[in-house]
Amino acid sequence: MAPPLPPPPFPPRTMEANPSLLETIGVGDLVLLDPLSEASVVQNLKERFEHQEIYTYIGNVVISMNPYQPLPIYSSETVEEYRNCNFFALKPHIYAIADDAYRSLRDRDKDQCILITGESGAGKTEASKQVMSYVAAVCGKGEEVNQVKEQLLKSNPVLEAFGNAKTIRNDNSSRFGKYMDVEFNFKGEPLGGVISNYLLEKSRVVRHIKGERNFHIFYQLLAGGSDQLLEELKLARDCVHYRYLNRDSTSLPGMDDAANFRIIQDAMQVIGFSPEEVQALLEVTAVVLKLGNVQLAGQFKASGMESCSIQETQVLQEICQLISLQESVLEQALCSRTVEAKKEKVVMSLSVSQGYYGRDALAKNIYNRLFNWLVNRINESIKVDTSERRKVMGVLDIYGFEIFQDNSFEQFVINYCNEKLQQVFILMTLKEEQEEYVREGIKWTPVEFFDNSIICSLIEENNGGILAMLDEECLRPGVVNEETFLAKLDQKFARHKHYESKATQNARRIMDASLGSTCFRIHHYAGKVTYNVSGFVEKNNDLLFRDLSQAMWKAGHKLLCSFFPEGDPQKASLRRPPTAGSQFKASVTTLMKNLYSKNPNYIRCIKPNDNKKPFMFTEELVQMQVRYLGLLENVRVRRAGYAYRQGYESCLERYKMLCKQTWPKWTGAARDGVEVLLTSLLIPPEELAYGRTKIFIRTPSTVFDLEDRRRV
Ligand code: ATP
Ligand code: MG
Repeated sequence: MAPPLPPPPFPPRTMEANPSLLETIGVGDLVLLDPLSEASVVQNLKERFEHQEIYTYIGNVVISMNPYQPLPIYSSETVEEYRNCNFFALKPHIYAIADDAYRSLRDRDKDQCILITGESGAGKTEASKQVMSYVAAVCGKGEEVNQVKEQLLKSNPVLEAFGNAKTIRNDNSSRFGKYMDVEFNFKGEPLGGVISNYLLEKSRVVRHIKGERNFHIFYQLLAGGSDQLLEELKLARDCVHYRYLNRDSTSLPGMDDAANFRIIQDAMQVIGFSPEEVQALLEVTAVVLKLGNVQLAGQFKASGMESCSIQETQVLQEICQLISLQESVLEQALCSRTVEAKKEKVVMSLSVSQGYYGRDALAKNIYNRLFNWLVNRINESIKVDTSERRKVMGVLDIYGFEIFQDNSFEQFVINYCNEKLQQVFILMTLKEEQEEYVREGIKWTPVEFFDNSIICSLIEENNGGILAMLDEECLRPGVVNEETFLAKLDQKFARHKHYESKATQNARRIMDASLGSTCFRIHHYAGKVTYNVSGFVEKNNDLLFRDLSQAMWKAGHKLLCSFFPEGDPQKASLRRPPTAGSQFKASVTTLMKNLYSKNPNYIRCIKPNDNKKPFMFTEELVQMQVRYLGLLENVRVRRAGYAYRQGYESCLERYKMLCKQTWPKWTGAARDGVEVLLTSLLIPPEELAYGRTKIFIRTPSTVFDLEDRRRV
């Protein structure tokens, strides 16, 4: 029997006729914006935002504006609407990108990653949850599948409790970077996942500014723990008792710490934590809190040297009971330091400020290791135990570019990470796009773009990048200080276009009172940032006095003891741990490798105002972010290019039924078959470009038409 004939050709729709993108407020896809400028992009976003349209596309990139108000656009009906729907067929929505990524993974066997960027409070974490819940809603059913989904989703509240905090910018600010790979089987059902975490802001454990809070877990535990639990942990219910918890900002409007504590207890159970593990985790959390209450008193010895001792022994006692450690061991470790000189061990007493420094370093270290343990423990539960081939979707929710009044080591590494992410974006979206056109022999109007690899090298080069030079300085024996580090940078980068400091300014006779003598300035892709070097060496070294790690190792508390393997005297001569900078660089490098192996999808989040106010739009603020996110560049490239491309064979295979000459089989070259096919469908030639191996289609609507025809 002859195969059915395809329906008759149809007049092609033009882009203007695509209702989803034009019959909205402003334009739904910035590729259609005319004229194109930073101002017109901002105006378009504003117009849409004022009409509660928070999503806008640039091709397949989603821009998301934080509405600061719950919107009724995430219902299960909306999920159904976007499910299996063509990316451009409905109005812009985060579900569209989630659906597109998921279907590419399931049907075309392409690993995906979803990169969510934006500044603090822009809505990255909310966006990542929306993506995850969309994928969870559409990716299969059944008891086993549902259990995996539950575990994956429940990892969120647990990590947020330990890794998020209220800041000035965001009441639920993620103080760590997170990347989660979700793994699927060939049917597209979830099997499990792996979470990686980046650079927890551990200094928050011991210090936070007025109006901010410590990590949520401390408040949740005190507010939501049962009387019995608090008694077991030797904790008082009121935050005022704890010096590490700021007294002016303990409870938050709209945040129910007690209820959240129950949520995370339940979540941990679902993930698979045993009651003993939860108890041990909370004991360590209580120890961190209590360490802040250890008070030291100073005495002067006859020699004039200052020494310190524990002032209030009850806290010390309680800590030691919780972790099964002899009080004298912890006391000695907190108040003195063993120094090895000429193979002889000398015990030196610490001054009060040294004692407090060591105490805080211990609290930060314990908490940081606890957080890493938590991530590993969750990973153990969600890991995939099968050798079957897997498809992967990665979701990255990581801090955006930071420019503060005072920028230190933390901002430096965070901005380095953003520089690398921008590089991924450039390489994958811009450069590869252009290179493909060249490879395919298609005419391309070159789009100029700023290649930031010069800044990445300035920071990360193994031989003489800033991080390597900092490491060198930290490892140098003798007195290490930031002055010599800065002097070395000045010498090395005297002529670097993206480096600036007082010394290089003087050499260039630039008068600039805004740049202090202890600072250097990097010209990042997103703007100039001035970093103060004080604290760089210490933060990079990230050392804990060995006496303290040895004391922790001696604790009878199995979990805590396992955090400090270097405290084992047998391993005392182990090489020093890698510096914070080199660890961060290594994890960023691994992340980049992972991202490069996948098909990227972008969600660019924008914070519309600094007041967390619903639907308020501050133009200057949005304009800055449009610039930092490189949106204009993105539109220019998209516009110059083609929205869609496909190899000739697969294009012919997919659409051959639409044309008599190609159905059921085309015997000539695939390229010619595609030409016959598309010509017979009356697709205007300016819509198409015939490359060496692929057909390029300029506008998405043409592709939808082809798809629609297939479905008829
Ligand atoms: P940080 O870098 O500090 O972690 P973030 O970019 O992850 O910031 P979120 O925590 O996702 O920011 O968002 C901040 C707050 O904004 C949320 O707690 C929520 O109140 C609100 N918000 C964000 N996105 C949405 C949305 N789509 N709908 C409603 N409210 C939102
Ligand atoms: Mg966040």
